[in-house]
Amino acid sequence: MTTTAPAARRVSYRQVLAEPRFRLLFLTRSLAIGADTLRTVALSVLIFTATGSPLLAALTYGAAFLPQAIGGTLLGAMADRLRPRPLITSGYCLEAAAAAALALAGLPTGASLALVAVIATLTPVFGGASSRLIAESLGGDAYVLGRSLANIAASAAQLLGLAAGGAIVAALGTRHALLVTAACHLVAAAATRLRLADLPPAAPLPGPRPGSVLRQSWAVNRQLVTDPAVRILLLATWLPPAFLTGAESLIVPYAAQHHFGAGAPGLLLACVPAGMIAGDFASGRLLRAATRERLTIPLMMVAGLPLLAFAAGPALPAAAGLLAVTGIGPAYILGIQRRFIDAVPPLVLGQAFGLLTTGLMTFQGAGPALFGAVTQITPPGQAMALAGAVTIITALSLYPALAGRRLYGREVPRYHPPMTAPDQGRIRQVQRRLRAEQGAFAPKPVLPVIDEVVATVLSQHTSDINSERAFAQLKERFPDWEQVAAAPAGQVADAIRCGGIADQKARRIQQILAAISEREGRLDLGRLHDLDDEAVRTYLESLPGVGPKTAACVLTFAMGRAAFPVDTHVHRVATRLAWLPPKTAADRAHRLLGPMVPADIRYDLHVAMIGHGRTVCRAQRPRCGACVLNDLCPYGRQNAASAGQR
Ligand code: SF4
Repeated sequence: MTTTAPAARRVSYRQVLAEPRFRLLFLTRSLAIGADTLRTVALSVLIFTATGSPLLAALTYGAAFLPQAIGGTLLGAMADRLRPRPLITSGYCLEAAAAAALALAGLPTGASLALVAVIATLTPVFGGASSRLIAESLGGDAYVLGRSLANIAASAAQLLGLAAGGAIVAALGTRHALLVTAACHLVAAAATRLRLADLPPAAPLPGPRPGSVLRQSWAVNRQLVTDPAVRILLLATWLPPAFLTGAESLIVPYAAQHHFGAGAPGLLLACVPAGMIAGDFASGRLLRAATRERLTIPLMMVAGLPLLAFAAGPALPAAAGLLAVTGIGPAYILGIQRRFIDAVPPLVLGQAFGLLTTGLMTFQGAGPALFGAVTQITPPGQAMALAGAVTIITALSLYPALAGRRLYGREVPRYHPPMTAPDQGRIRQVQRRLRAEQGAFAPKPVLPVIDEVVATVLSQHTSDINSERAFAQLKERFPDWEQVAAAPAGQVADAIRCGGIADQKARRIQQILAAISEREGRLDLGRLHDLDDEAVRTYLESLPGVGPKTAACVLTFAMGRAAFPVDTHVHRVATRLAWLPPKTAADRAHRLLGPMVPADIRYDLHVAMIGHGRTVCRAQRPRCGACVLNDLCPYGRQNAASAGQR
């Protein structure tokens, strides 16, 4: 028996939407995309009316996208360094303020475009923070379905925004239409402020201080694009959509070349997004995760193959059908989503998403320019066929890297069973049941901070009784920490021998004491009580061999702070309850579980889950039949079903 959760259960759109944090971020983002589209329509009409210049009206579109490249490259680290709720809320407030200014301030055209560009510069930061939260809320296949829903909603919101935008502008006038977009962004800001938990930023990067946002953004982006595994996934995400957008940009000239009539361009333009919605929905709803990943390259080819036929100049119905099939192809992106999260270091996830989106926008901006230039030497149909051909060549080039489990030598797990993070009501239910079963909660005696650090080191890989005995013997043999620091390592090891791996623990304790003495000038950590949780955590994790678990133990037991230590029992029980994706590393487990558990029950639940892991949810042969959490536990239900089949 392993701690791996059952792999066969499929996640549904309904389950993904039931996750409150995802639902909130998804709905607010969809509202904002619709509002952005309406703003672009209204502003381009406003500018065209004021200037009569088609070029300036077209620049309205470019101003909303191209500056994102600057923001993603130079400011992306903010997505990980700042608390997500204020960051995302500020983003929506800024968009609302900008839309209100465009509507009411009577800005000159240049200032209006500059304002749109400034907001666009920050978009990858807000979007990256939101994507990081979604990735941390939904694991494995649930995340992929979340992305599928987001893609469908983005396509639908854009179609709706474009379709309804003209009507709203005609009915309300440009300035009132802009005020509508401001109101939509304010609603998104208020919902985020009121309903999103105030979660911490990503943990600081290990090593020396990361420096300014600009320096960290640049360094991390370099690290991401030079990592072969990440780079291949970035290219797979960026290139085919760029070629497809290039082909889409030639639809209007193609329709004109073939004299299709006035309504034809609109019809043909709608075919690609309609195909995208169908492709995303079918892939998310009908395909298993493993199948979806196997179909990555075939679907990428589907994005290019129908375009080849445009070299022969198909008539209107055939052209519409070919474009709709082409639109299905981009569903291949769902097959690489999970791999991207696996390939990116968790501490820079927000920035990585910002880079992904920035690159996508930039390449999609370059596609039309590139294939527009091709039409200088060849008719639009041939240029569209060329876009299809380079898409197919790209798919074939990426095949060796994307076909297997390994990405340039790095093992990437093929499939994560579904997981949706539980809501706080469910977590409280688990705590109440375990507490009812185990009796009243009894906190540990409170030790001085430095004592708790040493006690936690001694508790590793041994029982509570042995580690408590080792700590008592150490204190008896060396009454103060200066004596421990100065003693020969062998004597310290002898004093803690009953706690196991004594030589290693003695060495580690002396290294920690030496580091504290060097920094503090004495062996006392009482001043940590004056620091906030994050500062204490950072300090402790910078000590030799001290990781997130020891830091969380010290915060909880010695300082009365609301941390949530994740030891081996807590980790196992949380994984089986599907609160964590399988094989989640210890540091990521701390980052995921800490914010998930209500602050007032963290200590209690930590103790209860340890007790449960020791007595019922054991590593080998868990007693699922006698477990009070059985009806809340996917692993337990699967266990019961397997037992029934045997
Ligand atoms: S039903 Fe209980 S014992 Fe079984 S895996 Fe779930 S939590 Fe553990």
